[in-house]
Amino acid sequence: NCNMTETIPSPSCFGQEQERREFERLMGEALNATGLKDGQDNQPDNTCVICLNQPRNCVLLYCGHVCCCFRCYQALPQPRCPVCRQAIIRVVQLLTEVTS
Ligand SMILES: [Zn+2]
Ligand SMILES: [Zn+2]
Repeated sequence: NCNMTETIPSPSCFGQEQERREFERLMGEALNATGLKDGQDNQPDNTCVICLNQPRNCVLLYCGHVCCCFRCYQALPQPRCPVCRQAIIRVVQLLTEVTS
């Protein structure tokens, strides 16, 4: 702190203090941003790749991909897997329980 330079008003010391606070504020923001990013990364990878909204709840056969919700499957312009472009011969709907 500034006790050493008590006789002389020390704007530089004050400036350092402000700088430190600014630094801490920025660090806090950076940490918050990182935390947010981690949260997104930790999301269960179970979201429909098309609407990014509904849980994936159907299996596309025969490629076997579970990549979209049944609604998006029905809305597909062509019956092709959005991941591998293989023709969809059949679709099995999964019964998903929402536990949370
Ligand atoms: Zn969807
Ligand atoms: Zn596929």
